Amino acid sequence: MPNFSELGLSGPILGALAAEGYAAPTPIQFQAIPPVLGGRDLCGIAQTGTGKTAAFALPILQRLAAVKQRALPRTCRALVLGPTRELASQIAASFRAYGAGLPLSTAVVFGGVPIGPQRQKLARGVDILVATPGRLLDLIDTRSLTLSSVQVLVLDEADRMLDLGFIHALNRIVKLVPRQRQTLLFSATMPRPIAALAEDYLDDPVKVVVAPSATTVERVEQGVVFVPSDRKRDLLATLLRDPVFERVLVFTRTKHGADRVVRHLVGAGVEASAIHGNKSQPQRERALAGFRDSQTRVLVATDIAARGIDVDGVSHVINFELPNVPEDYVHRIGRTARAGAAGIAIAFCSDEERPYLRDIEKLTRCSLRAIPVPSATAAPGNGPIERPAASNLPREGGLASQQARARGRAAPVQSPPLLARANVRRREPHAAGSLPAFLRRPSPAKPSSAGRRSEQPGRSAATRFDGPR
Ligand code: AMP
Repeated sequence: MPNFSELGLSGPILGALAAEGYAAPTPIQFQAIPPVLGGRDLCGIAQTGTGKTAAFALPILQRLAAVKQRALPRTCRALVLGPTRELASQIAASFRAYGAGLPLSTAVVFGGVPIGPQRQKLARGVDILVATPGRLLDLIDTRSLTLSSVQVLVLDEADRMLDLGFIHALNRIVKLVPRQRQTLLFSATMPRPIAALAEDYLDDPVKVVVAPSATTVERVEQGVVFVPSDRKRDLLATLLRDPVFERVLVFTRTKHGADRVVRHLVGAGVEASAIHGNKSQPQRERALAGFRDSQTRVLVATDIAARGIDVDGVSHVINFELPNVPEDYVHRIGRTARAGAAGIAIAFCSDEERPYLRDIEKLTRCSLRAIPVPSATAAPGNGPIERPAASNLPREGGLASQQARARGRAAPVQSPPLLARANVRRREPHAAGSLPAFLRRPSPAKPSSAGRRSEQPGRSAATRFDGPR
């Protein structure tokens, strides 16, 4: 297995990695660090959870530290752009951790908070600036910053920046950065507009592809509960009373939807908080801190707010509503498979959402296991929707059969029948295949920090599932 010292990293950086408990580079780090250290442009297809932040942060830190040069006032030497405040904060925290032994300064700027302190930070100049595009342009427009000294430009989660409508901002920003620079672009997917960006912005880039969507998915036990929209909130509140949900992220499609879910949960005696774009930055930070410190077990989030949430030990992800963009499903469930850990994800699917489910199953190339709703939560005459039996069959080579094979067990031929609407066939609440049993299935890695970190993000399912679970 390669180790970090073989990648040409310097002593202070190796020391910081040891302090973080990283035993070995992840695949993207292994492939990206040497060419980036050598000054090449890079186009990386990788998603959050693969260790991509260190893949660009480590060589950037080393290259900046190698040149004894101070940033001039109101300039930065490396500029990292990310789509959301949370991701930007996370990236800046990573730069600070990995660069702890180096004389380099890092600042982060994003909207939603007063601009004054950010101006002050930039007044003296910084080595590394992490920013969201909108606030960066505000700072440039008010002459608090110029990009004329940028030597390295990173576009992180480029696909998401385009989705969020940052294309004009990006084009403006890139024009302000010197042509003579190193450019690194990361994206979870490579749709045509991203390929066009890469073509325009990168010069003869090295291409690195790791963990295609399906790979992260393989580390997560996934199930789907078929339930009408108007029963979802009750089902959620009932489920979340179960202490097996140690730390759970619930995803809704809209901000108002997130607030409604939180109100319902709180009304039902389940403590929960919401994180989404309508919340102020201090509110978001409080919600995240409470979740991290285990004061709040349940965090209800929208897709955009959830980007960059890197919280250890998320035991479950619940897709209260299915996303209409299938890649978002992969990002969502990846929150419970951080740094190589396994996790459990449950999707609530109403009749109207079936097309979304089909898209997700197509993208991930696996059929989600259909799980019956516990009878306590199935109201008579208003029970879960039945799924045609044939679609419960795991596809040939699908996730269920692959995982079962890897564990040396026979794959389930067919998921258990769903509760019928009127003549509910009662099942033992913890019978194999029931929802409570599913929730207890694997043992998602408990976050003993060192153990967790010595696992490698981005590994394949075959590696993950070869031991007893
Ligand atoms: P990222 O994909 O950059 O968001 O990283 C996902 C998680 O993996 C973060 O919690 C990192 O701290 C962790 N991580 C990054 N590189 C390694 C590594 N080589 N070994 C173990 N954990 C890592």
